Amino acid sequence: MTGKHSAVASGAQKDIFDVFDSLKIPYDVFSQVEENPSLDTVERGAYFGLEKGADFIIGIGGGSPLDASKAISLLMGTKESTGKDLYNKDIPMKGLPLIAIPTTCGTGSEVTPYAILSLHEQKTKKGMSQRLFPNLAFLDPGYLESAPPSLIQYTAIDALGHLLESYINPHASLYSKMCTEYGMGLWAKGKERLLTGHFIKEDYEHFLAASSIAGMAISHTGTSLPHAMSYYLTYQKGVPHGKAVGTFLASYVKACPYKELIEKVESILGFSSTGEMKDFLERIIGRSSIPEEEGLACAKALLSNREKLANCPFQVTEEMAVSMYKESLDFIR
Ligand code: NAP
Ligand code: FE
Repeated sequence: MTGKHSAVASGAQKDIFDVFDSLKIPYDVFSQVEENPSLDTVERGAYFGLEKGADFIIGIGGGSPLDASKAISLLMGTKESTGKDLYNKDIPMKGLPLIAIPTTCGTGSEVTPYAILSLHEQKTKKGMSQRLFPNLAFLDPGYLESAPPSLIQYTAIDALGHLLESYINPHASLYSKMCTEYGMGLWAKGKERLLTGHFIKEDYEHFLAASSIAGMAISHTGTSLPHAMSYYLTYQKGVPHGKAVGTFLASYVKACPYKELIEKVESILGFSSTGEMKDFLERIIGRSSIPEEEGLACAKALLSNREKLANCPFQVTEEMAVSMYKESLDFIR
């Protein structure tokens, strides 16, 4: 299961084909997974796999093909299931064996049980209710070298979001905090080169490991407000996932009343303040703007997103929600 080009461009697909050929294992490729994959694509992928008689799946790519592979694995492994079942956790589903090979350094999808799909009927993106961990994850930093600098920048910022949203979280544990602290240290090693987009070999290894370790953390805690706030920008405005998450990170950290978080931002990530972090992120991702009424509607919608609010370590009032949107976005009147 792949996107259109990245599995080939990264060299990962050829490495897998070489292994299959040498072991005489037959294979087929479904290369139609788009960015922010839709439920329709996932259903088509499952149909393709069933028709070919596949008995295991390899997902190669960024979060999009990896998330799609999880949903496809569940649909293929559960007789007579439909896409809707992915959003009903009361229906028992079983996946086919799945191997995940990331070619970006953001989602950590190769180690998480989550899959976020675009639901065109509801005009939004939503994490499926079913959970499925890949059976194996293969991490090769060389597969990131074909990525344009902006993809490394945006996906590394997605990983930063996972680290920050997981660190102080109602579901955080000593284990998840161990992951986030270690992940932040790895992330910080390549931080300055995120500004220029001129990466060295070690950066790929550090960002890929940071992203996977952040994935282990969010497997325990889930993500919080910046992710919830990002989905509108991605779905309605086409802003890439990491860029959309990064838009809200500084105002989230600023609003979070836990000293421990800002201490880690300073001591491990090396930002002197949330203001410096905001400037750093804006130098990479710029600032998005939306009509004021849409921004205010988003703030209202955030207050009814029970799942993400349950993952937020502090009580969010309407005033706070509006001010986080106003600090993060330019409102057009
Ligand atoms: P992506 O949507 O998978 O890929 C973005 C673009 O980068 C695609 O055009 C892709 O090409 C290209 N690309 C990927 N790897 C490349 C490489 N090595 N060289 C050249 N081009 C490459 O990006 P992503 O940011 O990794 O994933 C975002 C998705 O993951 C979103 O749907 C997001 O909601 C989800 N997500 C999931 C989790 C989770 O826990 N499961 C967490 C956060 C986000 P192709 O189209 O050819 O593949
Ligand atoms: Fe994310």
